[in-house]
Amino acid sequence: MLYYSTSRQSPSVNFKEATIHGQAPDKGLYFPEHIPALPPSFFEEFATMSREEIAYTVIRPYTGDTIPDAELKRIVSETVNFPFPLVQVEDNVYALELYHGPTLAFKDVGARFMSRCLGYFVKDIRKKVTVLVATSGDTGGAVASGFYDVDGVDVIILYPSGKVSSIQELQLTTLGKNITALEVDGSFDDCQDLVKKAFTDDELAQHLFLTSANSINVARWLPQQFYYFFAYQQWKDKEHAPVVCVPSGNFGNICAGLLASHSGLPVKHFIAACNANNIITSYLQTGAYAAKKSVATLSNAMDVGNPSNFVRILEIFDQQFSSLKNRLSSYSVSDLETIESLIQLYRKHGYLADPHGAVAFHAVHQYLKQYPGDKAIVLETAHPVKFYDVVEPMIHEKVPIPGAIKGLLLQKKISIKMDADYAVFKNLLLSRE
Ligand SMILES: *Cc1c(COP(=O)(O)O)cnc(C)c1O
Repeated sequence: MLYYSTSRQSPSVNFKEATIHGQAPDKGLYFPEHIPALPPSFFEEFATMSREEIAYTVIRPYTGDTIPDAELKRIVSETVNFPFPLVQVEDNVYALELYHGPTLAFKDVGARFMSRCLGYFVKDIRKKVTVLVATSGDTGGAVASGFYDVDGVDVIILYPSGKVSSIQELQLTTLGKNITALEVDGSFDDCQDLVKKAFTDDELAQHLFLTSANSINVARWLPQQFYYFFAYQQWKDKEHAPVVCVPSGNFGNICAGLLASHSGLPVKHFIAACNANNIITSYLQTGAYAAKKSVATLSNAMDVGNPSNFVRILEIFDQQFSSLKNRLSSYSVSDLETIESLIQLYRKHGYLADPHGAVAFHAVHQYLKQYPGDKAIVLETAHPVKFYDVVEPMIHEKVPIPGAIKGLLLQKKISIKMDADYAVFKNLLLSRE
């Protein structure tokens, strides 16, 4: 399998090259040259397949000959070694809980898969690979945990001091070993600027092999297809395919779902639930794409003003607006509606969602008003405890801390404090050579 650049100015590359380099030299995103169709035998055996078997079968065509079968099986089984339960919340609405991984975020799957692929690929590069990531919260924790102790890979995470939640900060700063946390005196944008500058610095490139663990990397994007297969395996009413609603920011997750359905997975319709950052909602209404500056909301992992994966969605639909519109709807949900949705779900159904899930539940309710006969699955992308500071005042209760996190609260934060100054950052990187 080869991957071409969506900007079409760079040569096609295999999965290994696409993973190591992340983005194409022409700044396009890598996209598979063809979308594999799943054989009918797959769906005959589907009901009794293990998660590992499903994941392996789905991803195998995408990695081509870059990873031997036994190695890929190991990588995949380490990627999906926690549950993905489908929980009934209302008569016709189910939640697929994607937050049972080590950092309680759905990004765990992409980060675990990518880290292990990269770990395999760097074995024949003589230099150590340094992964740089800027995070506003969730990505950093998933990447830190995913890459922890992976041989030959050093990870440096930049986060804005005082601007991530206390749980998120502990997830970044307590691992040690090959994970280093830089606590930057500045904003998320400052962190991102430092990382971007480092990637274009020729002098650094002579000394270090730098790469990013950014969400556009094919090795983070493609394994997200697994969720949709795991959901369908647990779906009882096989006569009626589910509508699937995804809380969306950079649109990587929902794009993976659209890819899975293109491969043959039965999904009736997709809903992209957006917060006030409603670029795609407007696009689907008007056909005109207008990026905007992002605005801050309660569902902050979705505060994206120019969703980078949208170009991949257009590729799936051959740039045909009308066929895209037939498969995808989008709703924009305000903070006030998010709060109402979260409280209602808890009061009426005893289900505690996080703010991102609450956005998606509100969107699904809008959709079901129009199509009352349908049944839907909402992707619940984070555990509510990660956002306890906004969730607890809404429900006037404490959110119980899951076992996986309890130990974390006792650990000691270790970070390197740094001004948002490129010369300082560069020296620090060079000193690690
Ligand atoms: C990253 C994130 C999203 C958005 O996912 P995209 O793939 O960027 O659309 C939604 N919810 C949570 C909790 C996230 O961390």
